[in-house]
Amino acid sequence: MKFCSKCGHKVTLKAVEDDHRQRFVCDNCETIHYQNPNIVTGALPIWEDKVLLCKRGIPPREGYWNVPGGYMENGESVEEGAIREVYEETLSKIVLTGLHMVYSIPRINQVYMHFLADLQALDFQITPESTEIRLFTEEEIPWDDIAFPSSKFTLKRYFEDRKKGIRKVHLGRFDW
Ligand SMILES: [Zn+2]
Repeated sequence: MKFCSKCGHKVTLKAVEDDHRQRFVCDNCETIHYQNPNIVTGALPIWEDKVLLCKRGIPPREGYWNVPGGYMENGESVEEGAIREVYEETLSKIVLTGLHMVYSIPRINQVYMHFLADLQALDFQITPESTEIRLFTEEEIPWDDIAFPSSKFTLKRYFEDRKKGIRKVHLGRFDW
């Protein structure tokens, strides 16, 4: 961060009273600009023994397969965000059946939250964000062409749990 979003003047990273870390503070209006992680919310739509993935039509990782999801918007819950993102990327309707994983990526300040969901109909279409959408059985998953470690984590844990006949929330984290 370089400039104050309130007044446009330069900001300086410095110590703030009673705070455990340095913050960007405006040289002019003295506003303290707190920066916090972004939440990426999404869902794995399930139809019988298959899961719905979409091929990314936009960077980053364009051309790779992904669990539908995206940045949460202000004014919505993570559940509403997951349903919205799945619809925006696949034009499919889902019903969430539970939280599946929470996955931190401290280095880029992101937290992923993925739900499991029932696909309501075999009704999905490509969108500006997805160049291809299809259902995969476990054997068909293109493991080498999955867009992000978070999506691979969600898929691996889902198929493991299904074999064991259990449902639980998985915590993950990625560092590199
Ligand atoms: Zn300012």
